[in-house]
Amino acid sequence: MPARILNGNAIRDQIYSELTGEIATLSSAGIRPGLAAVLVGENPASKIYVSSKIAASEKLSLASINITPPATISTADLLAIIEDLNRRDDVDGILVQLPLPAQIDAKKILEAVDPAKDVDGFHPLNVGRLVAGRPNLVACTPLGVMEILRRSEIQIEGANAAVLGRSDIVGKPMALLLMHANATVTICHSKTRDLPETVRRADIVVAALGRAAMVTPDFIRPGATVIDVGINRITDAALAENLFERFPGRLAGFRAKGSAVVGDVHPDVANVAGALTPVPGGVGPLTIAMLMSNTVRAARLRRGSRIHATARS
Ligand code: NAP
Repeated sequence: MPARILNGNAIRDQIYSELTGEIATLSSAGIRPGLAAVLVGENPASKIYVSSKIAASEKLSLASINITPPATISTADLLAIIEDLNRRDDVDGILVQLPLPAQIDAKKILEAVDPAKDVDGFHPLNVGRLVAGRPNLVACTPLGVMEILRRSEIQIEGANAAVLGRSDIVGKPMALLLMHANATVTICHSKTRDLPETVRRADIVVAALGRAAMVTPDFIRPGATVIDVGINRITDAALAENLFERFPGRLAGFRAKGSAVVGDVHPDVANVAGALTPVPGGVGPLTIAMLMSNTVRAARLRRGSRIHATARS
């Protein structure tokens, strides 16, 4: 039986409708949450990501502040921009789009963001809080995966979970969130021995490798839940013919455009898994939804006392 498809767009819409109520409450206290996006240089993929984040802010009537320094900016000048955003009361969330140009000390920049405005959850203080089980602002993509699992009523407690990838942005926070939700977590990476056998023990598989369609059906225990975080653009026709052999609609789409976006999970996994997130339309929409959610949360935590003050006056 083909896997249940976990529709990220539908879950994103649910989250947006919940956020709309929270934003209205803040608005009645004169607070409009603001998200500042810092996009350095002209990286085309980064531009697309930032414009979709700005579009989401506008859809939810959040204030969006867009700062676009040139690719030649120095670390010192970029630090001055971050410090200015840290001081501004109308800015609740600061996102610095990665990757940054090579001359920039990226760690120094991310550590300069006020932890109370760190809506990407990358600051060491927020990472530490997550490790300690007292999370405040948590990285958006793993947070989005947890929303998919919970809202789809996938059993996490007691489950064996395999997280494929150990990046600071996805794999590590993902493993911590699953562990705190009482899963038994195995973290896999490029040095893991016999990856398919290790992953086959899992009830929940989260693939965040950056390797197109690497997770093939033989990795997956029948009935397991598979969350595909990967976003890979393919342009190789032979690869597309192979991946989409049993998906004529997707093959036709590839032929029309000359490219397609695929995850880290092979499309044929749909015949083995119990539940599966599609790419596109799975985890991607949740990443942006959780950025919005973190911005509203940051506004509430930082300026929330003013809501009570307004209610009293
Ligand atoms: P990353 O920093 O490149 O990390 C990749 C991880 O995968 C590393 O831990 C690496 O192991 C491991 N890995 C790579 N090849 C492997 C192999 N052959 N066998 C076992 N492990 C292997 O990537 P990332 O930033 O976490 O992103 C992962 C994917 O998610 C990418 O496709 C990215 O585009 C996508 N992504 C999607 C969203 C979204 O919103 N949907 C958000 C963020 C990222 P080592 O540590 O040993 O090198």
